[in-house]
Amino acid sequence: MAYKLGEVILSRESIARRVHELAEDIARDNGKDNSVVIVGILTGAAFFLTDLVREMPEDMDVRVDFMSVASYGDSTTSSGVVRIFHDLKSSIEGKNVIVVEDIVDTGLTLSHLLELLKGRHPASLKVCVLLDKYERRKTEVKVDYCGFRIPDKFVVGYGLDCAGKWRHLKDIKYVIEE
Ligand code: 5GP
Repeated sequence: MAYKLGEVILSRESIARRVHELAEDIARDNGKDNSVVIVGILTGAAFFLTDLVREMPEDMDVRVDFMSVASYGDSTTSSGVVRIFHDLKSSIEGKNVIVVEDIVDTGLTLSHLLELLKGRHPASLKVCVLLDKYERRKTEVKVDYCGFRIPDKFVVGYGLDCAGKWRHLKDIKYVIEE
């Protein structure tokens, strides 16, 4: 099947504004003296994460780490399995962790990943997603910070791809099947 780019759903300006607000919310909630470990889920969230952390105050103790995972299991699997392709460089034990993901759809990937990270005993574990396709949820995931709730249509750009393409777009666009 061939695909082409559709209309803009989120412009670069509205993304930038919202990313700034999210960074402010995180900084406020985290407290001045606390450090935070931002865990980005590769590859899509890397684009969002780098903008997000650069909107955080200079005097905030912000650490960045990345993971690459694939999730197996379905809505009936309670524990789920996460295959790790690339793991964190540092221990998160006793740390305030915020997982940053580009999009939450069924919620399966994130819920499996959160179970795995909980087992590493962080002091706190929160979730920040740029996009939430809430209509498609198959399992409950507590999203602490959400950029935008979007309808159930496939989107690309700002890190999100379609078979590896279009991650580099500055705006987020719909994809149309030709
Ligand atoms: P979940 O486990 O929540 O169903 O899956 C989340 C993953 O599905 C995201 O990390 C992303 O890779 C993919 N995904 C879901 N919806 C979209 C979409 O509209 N566009 C793109 N590019 N990826 C999506």
